[in-house]
Amino acid sequence: MAQQFDVVVIGAGPGGYVAAIRAAQLGLKTAVIEKWRSGDGKPVFGGTCLNVGCIPSKALLDSSHRFHEAAHGLAVHGIGAREVTIDVPAMLKRKRRIVDQLTGGIAGLFKANGVTALAGSGRLLAGRRVEFSAHDGTVETIDAANVILATGSAPIEIPAAPFGGPIVDSAGALEFDAVPRRLGVVGAGVIGLELGSVWARIGAEVVVIEALPDFLLAVDRQVSKDALKILRAQGLDIRLNARVTATEVGEGGVGVTYVEGEEEKRAEFDRLIVAVGRRPVTAGLLAPDCGVNLEERGFVHVNEHCATDMPGVYAIGDIVRGPMLAHKAMEEGVMVAERIAGRKTQLNYDGIPAIIYTHPEIAWVGPGEQQLKAAGQEFKAGVFPFAASGRALAANDAVGIVKLLTDAADDRVLGCHIVGPGAADLVQQVVIAMEFGASAEDIALTVFGHPTLSEAVHEAALAALGHAIHIPNRKPR
Ligand code: FAD
Ligand code: AMP
Repeated sequence: MAQQFDVVVIGAGPGGYVAAIRAAQLGLKTAVIEKWRSGDGKPVFGGTCLNVGCIPSKALLDSSHRFHEAAHGLAVHGIGAREVTIDVPAMLKRKRRIVDQLTGGIAGLFKANGVTALAGSGRLLAGRRVEFSAHDGTVETIDAANVILATGSAPIEIPAAPFGGPIVDSAGALEFDAVPRRLGVVGAGVIGLELGSVWARIGAEVVVIEALPDFLLAVDRQVSKDALKILRAQGLDIRLNARVTATEVGEGGVGVTYVEGEEEKRAEFDRLIVAVGRRPVTAGLLAPDCGVNLEERGFVHVNEHCATDMPGVYAIGDIVRGPMLAHKAMEEGVMVAERIAGRKTQLNYDGIPAIIYTHPEIAWVGPGEQQLKAAGQEFKAGVFPFAASGRALAANDAVGIVKLLTDAADDRVLGCHIVGPGAADLVQQVVIAMEFGASAEDIALTVFGHPTLSEAVHEAALAALGHAIHIPNRKPR
């Protein structure tokens, strides 16, 4: 007889593994199918995020930041450090150790929670049955009362720069065994900027080629302009309004043709990272009669609760609409597991923070000024520069701004966009405030420790109200 489960999850990235653990916590008999294997054939959990995404990129960002600080950031403190060197293989080894620790941890969590982990590929058939093709070649059909699709995303390949040789995707860019002398990056999005920063900090000459004329469209204009200035000053050569049209792989690297404005240009690189976005992975996942429909760009069609068009089948994470972020995938996993268990859990899609882990970090939640204007929303903005933050100055990290946006009618916080030290953690404070429906006045009346970077959020709220203390106000109120 076919195995039966209350919940079968296909894909064990942050969406799938969190959904499986939460479902099991709620007493549902749960299995998760994952096809990722290590070099020696062992199943590996954690998906893109743990294996080739969030975690390894942050490991390299931290290593490269330390190198850069040691080489260039210590003299100002009166600290001498001669001959700072970088051992790239050792840096990669540290990254792999962290990945192994975390992916192994997921296997442990499955065991502890009683989740059945199945190593192989899953495919949804009609009637909520799941075909499981194990790595050993056996195929079985599993009966599932509920199915959660969480197969994630893969890098987009463009015809102008097909992957291979010196042209790599984001996963390849986490594995360079030496610092490229000249590195090209196609796409000035989150991934392009983070990976470009890693290799620039440890000595690569980095050129980032971005098709759009605007830098970081989702970010408030004032903040993205500031961020562009800061990153360019660090040596990242970011070229906007420049579209890659052809590449030519040769002996020593790759020649790239791109059109900047109207002008055709050419550049030579040792390596080229193509980071032009990601696409949902659904190939081979859905039998034609399974009842699940796709949208135009290949995303699985779902409602606001991640239910597909087939009752009892859900889809979460990068294969559905919304930002391609691990925390969004995880919270969708929790929501779906809880709804299967009969709860009424919802996800507030207006309160999902986004972060770019450059130094300084760029982080935001909610709309920026240009989006509010386009929506016809009356708003107030409070801006506080880190140049006026005692803590940021003490840390020699006083660049960037916090910009808080509030509803002009009732003072409710609508969004916050930050470029500056600790932006990832600072924006989270505003996310919590927004979740509680806070106003700028609520933040203004909250006591912030001194001296902290958090005071910049406090001062931005005071600025929105017209009475910041540590900067002049346009019209003090
Ligand atoms: P995935 O993590 O892609 O997992 C899907 C899993 O499904 C995979 O393990 C895959 O093997 C498996 N699978 C696919 N098809 C099948 C099948 N048929 N049967 C069985 N298994 C299958 N996000 C952040 O929030 N913060 C960051 O700092 C961040 N940094 C990133 C850096 C990089 C370089 C990249 C590439 C991404 C980064 N992201 C970051 C994005 C984040 O990794 C994704 O949003 C997240 O992993 C999506 O989770 P998911 O569960 O939907 O899919
Ligand atoms: P993201 O989706 O945040 O990873 O960003 C990807 C970026 O790549 C977007 O800003 C795109 O405009 C950019 N992009 C896509 N195709 C090209 C191309 N051929 N040349 C340069 N940039 C591109």
